[in-house]
Formats: sequence, structure tokens, C-alpha cells
Amino acid sequence: MEVIEKHLFECPMCHKDYESKEEAEECMNSTDKTDLKVGDIVTAGAGFGWFDGDKDWVVNPDVDTSQHGFGWDCSMGFYYVITDIATEGHILKFSLFTKAMMSAYSNGYVSSKYGISLKKVDATEKIKRESKELIGKVSDRLMY
Ligand SMILES: [Zn+2]
Repeated sequence: MEVIEKHLFECPMCHKDYESKEEAEECMNSTDKTDLKVGDIVTAGAGFGWFDGDKDWVVNPDVDTSQHGFGWDCSMGFYYVITDIATEGHILKFSLFTKAMMSAYSNGYVSSKYGISLKKVDATEKIKRESKELIGKVSDRLMY
């Protein structure tokens, strides 16, 4: 019997083994990409008819929500801070927190598996300041 030593290359993201370094690198590079980073203030679409937190974190607090629809012209959207970006295999998970809501809706995560619909925005100094204390928090509630 002969012992054959075989080298395998492991993708650091999904831990799959490959016989060539190139294949492992290709796998690694297939990880979803983003220009967003922790601390960025983003919007994640509109769809709320109410809020119970700080109005300054609501993008469009004066919108007419009487038609109970989705979208910026008939529902509210919030400013969120990206508090954490985690990887799950090749998928990115963005944790988002807002002070527009005090309830469970104050946070959620979005996954790059479904496409990234977050939009980076310029926020007021107040939001930038208040967002700092939220950095590092991780949400386990899927936002949509
Ligand atoms: Zn991989």
C-alpha cells in the first residue's frame, strides 16, 4: 500500500474543498459584493403606516397613509443604520436598526440572497450621532 498525500484547498467562506487553488479562489470570489459598510445610513423602502419612535428617523413622516399601501407615496420609510454585516457562506446579512420604531420593528436583517435593496443616504447630524450607539447590534429578524 502506498500513502498518497493530497492537497486540498478550502474556500474560507463556505468551507468547500477543491483540488486546485484556482477553483477555491473562484468559489471565494463568488461571495456577494457590496459597497455598503457598517455605520452607513440607509433606507430600505417604505411600507409602514405608523411609527412609535423618533420622528426624525422617519424619512417621510407627513405622507398620507390613509390608503394603506406600500411605496413612498402612501407609506412611511425609515432611516436605518447598518449595525453589522455578517457572511453566511457566500451570502451577506445586513443588520439594520432604526430609532423610528421602539417595538420589534426597530430592527431586522436583509440578505443579499434576495438582492440588496438598501440605498445609502445622507443623514442629519442627529441621526449620525444617535446611530453610533447601535453599531455592533445583530438582528435575527428577517426584514423582508
Ligand atoms: Zn465557497
